[in-house]
Amino acid sequence: MMGAAFQYYAEVTGEKVAAAQERVVARGVLPNSRISPGYVRGEDGVLVVERPKARVVVQAFKRRDRGASLAEIQALLAKNGIERSISGVASMLSSRMSLGEIHFGELHNTRAHEPTIKDRGLFERVQRRTVSRGRQAKSERLLAFLGVLRCGTCGSRMVINSYSGNYRCGDTSANPCQRRAAVKADRVEEMVLDAVRAYSVTADLHGRASRRQQIREADEAIERANAELDDTIRQLGELGLLGRSASQETLGKLIKALDDAHTARARLGDRGESDVIGPEDIDKLREPAKRLAAWRRLITDTIESVTVAPAMTADGRPSRLWDPRRIDIRFRGQHP
Ligand SMILES: [Zn+2]
Repeated sequence: MMGAAFQYYAEVTGEKVAAAQERVVARGVLPNSRISPGYVRGEDGVLVVERPKARVVVQAFKRRDRGASLAEIQALLAKNGIERSISGVASMLSSRMSLGEIHFGELHNTRAHEPTIKDRGLFERVQRRTVSRGRQAKSERLLAFLGVLRCGTCGSRMVINSYSGNYRCGDTSANPCQRRAAVKADRVEEMVLDAVRAYSVTADLHGRASRRQQIREADEAIERANAELDDTIRQLGELGLLGRSASQETLGKLIKALDDAHTARARLGDRGESDVIGPEDIDKLREPAKRLAAWRRLITDTIESVTVAPAMTADGRPSRLWDPRRIDIRFRGQHP
């Protein structure tokens, strides 16, 4: 009897709560207290824009759109009195609240309050920046099987555990790794993407246009070196001078030049001029699978290694705390 009475009570209240929530959302009132930066609750319960902070939020979206990392956005917000964790920053940038919308379970109101982000294009671009979210199939994790992630203790490749969402030292040797490094996949992926974006912007070498040009020039240099070598061999042959040591010396130099041209070309990766796309092109790709594939190509093109140090506390014990300094990202051609 007690059970049935309790259940009846719960159902009635549940129904009342649901009906109340529906009315509230229809009126444009957020039924919880998770209010995004840039808003305060008005007297009637509807969110109103808090101008100075809303301007900071707009700035944050714009910076993110231009390639700023979550950490940079976090710093920008903090400087303006908005304290957020990295994941708090990420959730702010993905909240449709800033478009004036409320989505609460099954309840939706797309004109609930004044938007802080009036440019929907800007909002959508910022959404497309995030490649990977949540638990995914092994092969769908950004850094799975790329071979760039390395255990800081033993240097082994790291493998994804899609259940825990961690990359972990994948050492399978007879003398196994003593301190296997592990890292949250979301965190290291975010860092790698941020690093490649920053690198693509700052390092002239990997700007898309200049990279295309470099590939074209490198291909042309190989052609020239080949032609010169061919011509010289033919001319020396016609003159009957091929056996001379001076001729051999000349040919040696030309062969070396050809080798160098090939080496320079190899450093630019094994793809052709038109296959090179940068982060800004990747963001425009609509299909997630294509975006993922393009990111992987760009990462393997630009990054030599991402070494993850095992997490330690100050006194040398294993730590669960996240510290970005554990991650050491090396770009190609950047070693000491
Ligand atoms: Zn290891």
